[in-house]
Amino acid sequence: MILDWAIAGHARSCAACQRELHPGEPCRSALIDDRLGLRRVDHCLVCWSGAPEGAFCWWRTRVPEPSRPSRPRPRADRGLLLDLLRRLEGDRPPQDRDLRYVVALMLLRMKVLEFQDTRREQGGRSLLVLVSRREGEPFLVEDPGLSGERIDQVREALLRLVDVGG
Ligand SMILES: [Zn+2]
Repeated sequence: MILDWAIAGHARSCAACQRELHPGEPCRSALIDDRLGLRRVDHCLVCWSGAPEGAFCWWRTRVPEPSRPSRPRPRADRGLLLDLLRRLEGDRPPQDRDLRYVVALMLLRMKVLEFQDTRREQGGRSLLVLVSRREGEPFLVEDPGLSGERIDQVREALLRLVDVGG
């Protein structure tokens, strides 16, 4: 599950050749959705031959250098977050619903999305009605009613999962 992975630590190895990737080394990362749930795989440049089967999305990055105290905060890419928002739509496990909500909050803060309305469905589900500023693409995002603490926790995990290294 996504949060477990993200908390698992900094060591990364190539999913194909198993070689440990060194801090600062360029690599390719992808999010894969399979029967194990949403998870991330990293590949060294030698082994990367395009996005693996079942990949949600992929991106270029570098292995972070965890020991460097002045390391800038991880950044997340606009297109990547929008992609996640689209892909995580629909009937998904509760942790993915939390994740999707936090992705939407980040995109709102980045001013990629604009808030339009809230809607309450029969059964009590609360939905945010959002639209992307650039494309005018509408999004309905369920508000799972997370605590501030939980939001921080999910956001940190998400940033570690999709960080776009320097
Ligand atoms: Zn490799």
